[in-house]
Amino acid sequence: MTTAAIIVAAGRGKRAGGGLPKQWRTVSGRRVADWTIDAFRASPHVDQIVLVVHPDDAEQYQSIDNLRIALGGATRDESVRNGLEALANSACDKVLIHDVARPCVSGDIILDVVRALDDSIGAAPALAVTDALWTGKSDRVSGLQDRSHLYRAQTPQGFRYADILRAHRDSKSPASDDVEIALRAGLDVTIVEGHENNLKITTPEDFERAGKILGGGMDIRLGNGYDVHRFGDGDHVILCGVKIPHDRGLQGHSDADVGMHAITDAIYGAMAEGDIGRHFPPSDPKWKGADSQIFLRHAVEMAVSKGFKISNIDCTLICENPKIGPHSAAMQSRMGEIMGLQTDRVSIKATTSERLGFTGRKEGIAAIATATLVKE
Ligand code: MG
Repeated sequence: MTTAAIIVAAGRGKRAGGGLPKQWRTVSGRRVADWTIDAFRASPHVDQIVLVVHPDDAEQYQSIDNLRIALGGATRDESVRNGLEALANSACDKVLIHDVARPCVSGDIILDVVRALDDSIGAAPALAVTDALWTGKSDRVSGLQDRSHLYRAQTPQGFRYADILRAHRDSKSPASDDVEIALRAGLDVTIVEGHENNLKITTPEDFERAGKILGGGMDIRLGNGYDVHRFGDGDHVILCGVKIPHDRGLQGHSDADVGMHAITDAIYGAMAEGDIGRHFPPSDPKWKGADSQIFLRHAVEMAVSKGFKISNIDCTLICENPKIGPHSAAMQSRMGEIMGLQTDRVSIKATTSERLGFTGRKEGIAAIATATLVKE
């Protein structure tokens, strides 16, 4: 059996603001209509798509390839009917009728409706009403309404094509949706499980909600950092904010805290904000001998100002000496303190390089670090 989808996009709805009809406004970087069309294109259970548009929107819909366009009518019913008539010669058995303003429809809902049509002439997603329902008059509760048989209707509403076409042709008065037209014509409609995410965009707040759903809701960034400092004269090194007595010191423009530098660069990296050198140029004498926590605090503040939370840090120090193990707990706690993180989110560990290479020859210390940043 072949299945077509009719996406009804002829409305003038401007209640959501922005001047354009809502289907042509963008949400999460793309137009509402593009998200909706792609949801149906992505379904292996939909064979063809008809987009019903308003004639005034040519500038908007011309750019959409590979689907059939039908012109809408004066009412929603008329627009749907035009979409159904456009399929008259296409030999489709099932048709799904969907509001363009529901761009978050999932492949699962589409599939559930298509499947339900194997056994039913009509099928549509809905959610059982779970809130208590009142009747009211002039801001006063006037009574309670039994909710036990009440559902909130969604789309796509699916039907056997020949039956819904006939029902639409015979319809004499306006209907709020296609299920109403089907019921009037005596067609059975099965309820399939809808989803809260399958919202209809109506208000500006709905755009925000849809943006979160379509954008995945969470922005997760990974950054890495790598740094090396060479040994020189001295009697201690500073690693991840902890002073460790050693027979050599680390050379560098600042305090040469190689571990903290790698972590700082990982945080900048997660935001695509370059590295320490970009924000604190070594050519500037101001940073000579600087405490490296200035750099780290800057990176952390930048992350916070961009709305990110640092989720975790993992740093590996690479050296033969000094031994890191005895100091790693102090390092974790110091780094956690600077970044505002619990110590179970700060990992500081060490390895030797089996006496190979510059770290193996004890010429310096290297550090690599990874940072995860999360924005919800
Ligand atoms: Mg450095």
